[in-house]
Amino acid sequence: MGRPIHTRGLVLRRTDWSESSQIVTIDTRDHGIIDLLAKGSRRVARRSSSFAEPLDLGGWYDLVYRPRSADLHLAVEARLIEGFPHLRDNLAAWLEACFALDLIRAAFTGGDPHPELLRSTLSYLKLLGVGRGRLALRNRFALELLHRSGVWGGWELCATCQRPLVPGEVYWHVTAALLCGDCRSGSDRSLPEPLRRTFLELTAVAWGNLPSLAIPEATLVAAWNRVREALLHHLERAPRSLRYLRVGDTSATSAPLG
Ligand SMILES: [Zn+2]
Repeated sequence: MGRPIHTRGLVLRRTDWSESSQIVTIDTRDHGIIDLLAKGSRRVARRSSSFAEPLDLGGWYDLVYRPRSADLHLAVEARLIEGFPHLRDNLAAWLEACFALDLIRAAFTGGDPHPELLRSTLSYLKLLGVGRGRLALRNRFALELLHRSGVWGGWELCATCQRPLVPGEVYWHVTAALLCGDCRSGSDRSLPEPLRRTFLELTAVAWGNLPSLAIPEATLVAAWNRVREALLHHLERAPRSLRYLRVGDTSATSAPLG
């Protein structure tokens, strides 16, 4: 067994493994996604325990673990830094959070750390508690995930020929790649300029400003429909939590910009 490793990580999934132990999937800052066996984490009454409480889904922890040759490493210590309690008594916010955790698990593999996305995820989980702008936040999170997993390359250049895109002549490939009029194929739909501007805005502002952006609900729904399509295209399996998400105000589902 290797030397203990100190890092921080977000719990993406947890399973009770025995009366006293858990198996947790954690997105760590330094080593990407890992699986840990936390022996004794469910037996919290003991003073000798290295775990103050069972590890919780969506919790952000200070961690010590021992790597083992198999894929399941051994958790030595876990200290909760941020538990995002506001998510746990609000069903809509909690479902959004679970979807984000599932997306990370579906988009990344072990040994592939992505600290920037992890930082964004923490901002996202925090801001879900604001109660406003959830669709703007979800769009931003999913776009960043596509970007960090090497899919989406930006809003300014054609993904194929790398020439600057000309407003009004921008086409959306199902993979979330933007193409110019010369590089598009017949199945690539145009991306209306207001929608491209919305994407630009969603990805350019600081996380903290997202909840107060004045973007019409219908536009956010249209943006989400495109992003969702790209996620479904890229992920081998769509997270089950996707089906529990609200797509916004039901009166806005027939979005004019779709
Ligand atoms: Zn092009």
